[in-house]
Amino acid sequence: MPHAEAEVSLSAISGNVARLKSATPAEVMAVVKADGYGHGLLECARASLAGGASWLGVALIEEALALRAAGLDAPTLAWLWSPSESEAVRAAVRAGVDLSVGGSWSLAAVTAAARETGKPARIHLKIDTGLSRNGCYVDDWPELLAAVAQARAAGEVEPVGVWSHFAFADAPGHPVIARQLAAFRDALGVAGRHGITPQVRHIANSAAALTLPEAHFDLVRPGVAVVGLSPIPGQGFGLTPAMTLRAELAQVKRVRAGEGVSYGHTHTTARATTLALVPLGYADGIPRHAGNRGPVMINGARFTVSGRVCMDQFVVDIGDHQAAPGDSVVLFGPGNDGEPTAQDWADAADTIHYEIVTRLGPRVPRVYRDQGEPCHRR
Ligand SMILES: *Cc1c(COP(=O)(O)O)cnc(C)c1O
Repeated sequence: MPHAEAEVSLSAISGNVARLKSATPAEVMAVVKADGYGHGLLECARASLAGGASWLGVALIEEALALRAAGLDAPTLAWLWSPSESEAVRAAVRAGVDLSVGGSWSLAAVTAAARETGKPARIHLKIDTGLSRNGCYVDDWPELLAAVAQARAAGEVEPVGVWSHFAFADAPGHPVIARQLAAFRDALGVAGRHGITPQVRHIANSAAALTLPEAHFDLVRPGVAVVGLSPIPGQGFGLTPAMTLRAELAQVKRVRAGEGVSYGHTHTTARATTLALVPLGYADGIPRHAGNRGPVMINGARFTVSGRVCMDQFVVDIGDHQAAPGDSVVLFGPGNDGEPTAQDWADAADTIHYEIVTRLGPRVPRVYRDQGEPCHRR
């Protein structure tokens, strides 16, 4: 083992997708943006397709092109791009990558790319149903639809999808959910009156895929559930967290009572004790916010980070427990063997588990395990 590793179970990812697929007649778009939520873009995509996903979703065009370059040719949607990316847009159109369009500048960009490449752009029209993030504002929707109908008549675009995104899917029953669903249905109705009847209508993220069947339409877009993290803390949904983050203790030493530990001495040893050194720090994505709070497991027992998390390392006061340099420390995993979970780290750092796994840095090698054995490293 290297000094630290994030072990990723590919069978967990495939199993999670199969679980999501079994809950809906809709197709599954596995969202693998942000390096597969820190689990590895290509590995996560391949395992998702093996589990029954038929679409892939990413934020950036470059992520979609990386999938294509690796030979993954499943329908793929990229939804976040900017006006200066005309070259990437052309590459996307050439590679048959679907692009989200939410307004006039993005429609102009895809039609220009279509003219330049001689290939119609496959587009998903995004309606902002109440997140007020990206997508077309409802007042501007009819004008966008009219322009899309014109571009389609000119052979420049193929309107493949109409889509949106929830603000409160992780709070089942929240009134904004129903308002957004109604706005989505209205937007689909207006699209139909403009002659635009997409192949796929989609609005459901992981939380909606697992709790809101009426939001499934033709396609669901789970991300966090694919890697096995529950979109609604406290409810497991039969998902298996795919990542285990562990390191090797780099030093273990016995010290006296009254020693200040780590920068600023925010922890002081209460009595003679053993300090264990973990070679992971905030440069690796361990939240500095989790000083004196983050949980770990060493040789079967749970402890808490002692003092501040440093750039490359942190210290754990393990009392009279036995440990030696080279022993394994588990920061988080599925939780089946008593180890902390990514949710526990999120609680310790006042954030969400999405951030805990996606922020893991490039110094932490990802090691892939399928049927219980490591299969390759990256
Ligand atoms: C990230 C993202 C998803 C996946 O969300 P999860 O909560 O991880 O399931 C789906 N759709 C869009 C537009 C996203 O940005």
